[in-house]
Amino acid sequence: MGEIRSDKNVDMNAPHEMIKCRICLKEVPATVAKTFDGPAYVHYFCGLDCLEEWQNQIKNGGSENCSDPL
Ligand SMILES: [Zn+2]
Repeated sequence: MGEIRSDKNVDMNAPHEMIKCRICLKEVPATVAKTFDGPAYVHYFCGLDCLEEWQNQIKNGGSENCSDPL
């Protein structure tokens, strides 16, 4: 009683789950992945860069073709 465990907040039920980034398809640990809660499900990204990239694609109409004339 009164025992303190510093690692108590580590979720041992989720051992290094890997997710695949929606943009660059790189696999990263779910613990470091960025998530965006969509209306139906959650999207995963390897980092903020890919998350923003995906949000830009949504703004542009969700087209998979990058045909922007720059
Ligand atoms: Zn990515």
